[in-house]
Amino acid sequence: MADIGYLCLLFEPIMNSPDYIAPEQLLSILFKSPNATAVYTGEDITIVSANEAMLAFWGKDKSVIGKNFFDALPELSGQPFLDILKQVWNSGKTYIAKDYPAILKVDGILQNFYFDFEYKAILNEHGKTSYILHTASEVSEKMEARKMVKEKSKAEKQLTKDLVDLNEEYLVANEELLLINNKLETVNKELVYFKNQLQEVNNTLLESEKRFRSLVEYSPVAMASLKGENFTVDVVNESILQIWGKDRSVIGLPLRLALPEIETQPFLGILREVYESGKNFYGQELKVRLSVDGKLTDRYLNFVYKPISGTDGKTTAILVVASDVTDQVNARETVLEMNTRLQIALDASSLGSTEVNLATGIMQSNDQFKRNFGFSDDEEFAYSDLFEAMLPEHRERVRGLVQEAIRTNGIYKTEYPIKWRDGSLHWIQAHGRPRYDKNGKGDRMVGMTADITDKKLFEQRKDDFLSIASHELKTPITSLKASLQLLDRMKNKPFSETHIRLIEQSGKSVEKVVVLIDDLLNMSRMSEDQLRLEKTKFNLHDMLSMSCNHVRMEGKYDLIIEGDKNLELYADEHRIDQVVINFVNNAVKYAPDSKQIHIIIESQEGHVKVSVKDSGNGIDAKILPHLFDRYFRVDHSGKSYSGLGLGLYICSEIIRKHEGQIGAESTIGEGSTFWFTLPV
Ligand code: ADP
Repeated sequence: MADIGYLCLLFEPIMNSPDYIAPEQLLSILFKSPNATAVYTGEDITIVSANEAMLAFWGKDKSVIGKNFFDALPELSGQPFLDILKQVWNSGKTYIAKDYPAILKVDGILQNFYFDFEYKAILNEHGKTSYILHTASEVSEKMEARKMVKEKSKAEKQLTKDLVDLNEEYLVANEELLLINNKLETVNKELVYFKNQLQEVNNTLLESEKRFRSLVEYSPVAMASLKGENFTVDVVNESILQIWGKDRSVIGLPLRLALPEIETQPFLGILREVYESGKNFYGQELKVRLSVDGKLTDRYLNFVYKPISGTDGKTTAILVVASDVTDQVNARETVLEMNTRLQIALDASSLGSTEVNLATGIMQSNDQFKRNFGFSDDEEFAYSDLFEAMLPEHRERVRGLVQEAIRTNGIYKTEYPIKWRDGSLHWIQAHGRPRYDKNGKGDRMVGMTADITDKKLFEQRKDDFLSIASHELKTPITSLKASLQLLDRMKNKPFSETHIRLIEQSGKSVEKVVVLIDDLLNMSRMSEDQLRLEKTKFNLHDMLSMSCNHVRMEGKYDLIIEGDKNLELYADEHRIDQVVINFVNNAVKYAPDSKQIHIIIESQEGHVKVSVKDSGNGIDAKILPHLFDRYFRVDHSGKSYSGLGLGLYICSEIIRKHEGQIGAESTIGEGSTFWFTLPV
């Protein structure tokens, strides 16, 4: 209570009148005060007194008493306290501060403190400052607490703000989540819907795959489905297995392994192209070689490779649909082959074919048919032209045969001579068969014709040959018979000149017969192609010098041999000699006035040429090409030459066998050259 009284006392003079208190009294009171108290005096603020509480604040002991403020508390220099104290001293005005910060050295460490303090000027009777009473209480903890509260509240505010922010974010997030949730719900619903739909599609797919499989399996057409880029055999039916010649064990295998034999054939390549391009491939009668029962068999197929694509448009499989057309192709090939053969036969035999409309006389003929009648390929040829060409005496007969064939539904077959528009004579052999309309009326005639002129001429020559051969044989035999009869009559007479002459004559006749029979035999051998060559190596010049000695001995003709004396030949010497003799004999026979007969040897590339040249009357150019034909003889108008017309034919056969060539050149009035060549 004394304190309060003192304080009332103390305050009063501050406001009103100067204090009046004995200093000792004041100090003793102060020292007892629990408040921190110090008393200063003088302009340099000398510490007069400081109680324990103040000393504790300062972190000092009693030694500071008597020192001036600056010396006692050097750590406060730089802080405003000394200046404030000096101001109070000088002005006499009390200074009150609240929550004032101060840095003090306590326990040797500079620390922050807060104080409420008062510098109260105690004035003397003159109104001048004599003491300064310093009271202070520390408010550091309060400050700390306030600071902490402040910081805490700041932190709380921040926290609240953060929380608010967070809350807002949370709210936003929540809203978004709600939205997402809604969306998810919608999506979920959609998913369920799609799942159901997918299930349905799946069911439909399963159903349609089932249908596809049974479609393939029960299809009467061969079908297979090849899956993936390895063309794995997926679905097949019996028909395709039959074509492939395989069983169901091929299912699941890549085609390459299912049908290893097609590796070298174009099919895998085509499949690959279809797979990549997505375009169908159509095979028409393509040949495929398949191993059926372990045997490679050719088959012809019409087929389609159809790509099957997934939803992304990419090919996933290829459907194969095939039909085996092997029988048709074979049948057609047989027909074609037969047609070709028929055409070859028609061409080779110069057969003409035609169909004549008997009402209109229009003929549908092939080229050969027209050619047989001396017409060119592009000329029209009508039924009337046919009868026009026919020699008149045959027309009625042929018409009658046609009518008869129609009446009896038979074939007519005949031969008739025709005259071409150039006047030449030809022979036609004709076959015909009638055709009938739906009323059974014979309205067409299908016919074939062959030009048989050569055959007719040959037959003619053969007939001539037979009569000549008989005649030729008859002549020496008649003379032989006469000689023998004479000898018979003279058999009892003594042997005379006549006997000798008759025997010689008989010998000549027999010789002639032998030559004729030789020719005939040679000819028949030739026609049966039985001529055998016995080839040896010989000197051609030497052979020619020895040949035809009979002519040389007669002395009527000069045989002049010209050319290479050293040529060696590998040939049948006897047969070649026979050819040369024939040439020389003919020269003697048909060019009797040609005293010199030249035999010329010429070496040509790869072969040698031998020519026999006379300077007789020569041969007509028209008949030159026929000289080597069988039975060909020239009509020598009046002159009679013995001979069968076989010599040159036999020569040509001998040379042909030696793979050489034979020919004749001739100029009327200058002579003829007969030649042959032989390979060396
Ligand atoms: P052949 O002498 O038996 O009648 P060939 O076949 O030897 O038969 O001769 C055919 C024809 O060729 C003869 O009939 C003859 O008219 C003619 N011929 C052959 N050689 C000559 C020749 N050197 N000069 C003229 N005509 C010839």
